[in-house]
Amino acid sequence: METFERNEKGSMMAEGVSVSSLALQYGTPLYIYSEKALRDHFSEFDKSAGDFPHLICYAVKANSNLSVLRLMASLGAGFDIVSGGELARVLKAGGDTAKVVYSGVAKTEKEITFALDAGILSFNVESEAEMERISSIAAAAGKTARVSVRVNPDVDAGTHPYISTGLKSNKFGVPVERAFSLYKRARDLPGLEIAGIDCHIGSQLTSLAPFEDAIDRLIRLIDRLREEGINLKHIDVGGGLGVVYNNEVPPSRKAYMETILKKIQGLGLLLICEPGRSLVANAGILVSRCEYLKEGELTDFCIVDTAMNDMIRPSLYQAWMKIEEAEADESIPEKVFNVVGPVCETGDFLGKERSLRVKPGDFLVMQGAGAYGFSMSSNYNSRTRPCEVMVSGTEHRVIRRRESPEDLWRGEEL
Ligand SMILES: *Cc1c(COP(=O)(O)O)cnc(C)c1O
Repeated sequence: METFERNEKGSMMAEGVSVSSLALQYGTPLYIYSEKALRDHFSEFDKSAGDFPHLICYAVKANSNLSVLRLMASLGAGFDIVSGGELARVLKAGGDTAKVVYSGVAKTEKEITFALDAGILSFNVESEAEMERISSIAAAAGKTARVSVRVNPDVDAGTHPYISTGLKSNKFGVPVERAFSLYKRARDLPGLEIAGIDCHIGSQLTSLAPFEDAIDRLIRLIDRLREEGINLKHIDVGGGLGVVYNNEVPPSRKAYMETILKKIQGLGLLLICEPGRSLVANAGILVSRCEYLKEGELTDFCIVDTAMNDMIRPSLYQAWMKIEEAEADESIPEKVFNVVGPVCETGDFLGKERSLRVKPGDFLVMQGAGAYGFSMSSNYNSRTRPCEVMVSGTEHRVIRRRESPEDLWRGEEL
């Protein structure tokens, strides 16, 4: 959480600009991203891989703003997409479609055709039926689709059940035993070229052991495939590296990369990884304004202008996100609050039992908001979605304007 820190006067800074001044200029709720943090996080992955052939495919769903995508593309990133809409964003941002891998269990015919036309690097295939569908679409178009099987290695990522994806009980991927026969089937189907192997076991992992277990299982399968005469070009280890929200101690990006390289060193395959959260979470904050303080029977409430429609992680996964004052003011007594928003749901909260020195009109900063924040936002309660701003040094610019009421009913008829 080193990006957004207080200066000696106690003001929270976004690089060289005070967060309060940005909040005054652009209004709240406000997402603020640090270009430097985005660059630094990417280059930590990139540099740690050194000369080893690798491709970092940024997981678009974590934060799909065009400016973020364009920055990633300029750094050499590829993209991990999960929908046709995300592919359209990558194209719009000027990303290289030859560096796109496409995951997701429900790819439609339309989406497959779109991705095939765009010439993506690989479809990460999640079922037998999908493999057949891609084959028939590609064959009918006289094209070749590059495919990888997304293997479900059945490892427990030790994370929240909603963000764990590599267990037998999950809808994702193909079990290891079935993946072997699916590769043999792919070899016989028209319109397909076997490109690689893929897995993604979950999100916000704070230990390396599950990654190692998953890769071990993939390597065993790669060896069996070799014996069968099926040779792959890449190994895609997915995303999932955790970040610090509170007191987690995730491995560094460097340690993560080194551990993976050690495992796959001798395979002679291109390494693909798909980080999302680790690149963007702590490169962004969400700024809200305290509207009211309200005494409750059991707890006091700090009611802010920001809600679950702007940031759903606390409501959806009981995620703990750090909330602090934009300006430190020791003259205000510290009190414990539940920080809640205006949406008409009891589940609408940003944080519970937080000690704050706050009065109405003050700005509050939620740390770690760059990932799965804006990208999961909605217009629930007919709330216009927040403005997004990119800071670089002392410069700042709007990368998505605040929505207007007209945006709320765009496409609707009276
Ligand atoms: C969501 C997702 C990622 C990114 O996960 P993070 O935890 O944000 O790194 C990578 N790959 C796939 C297939 C995903 O669904």
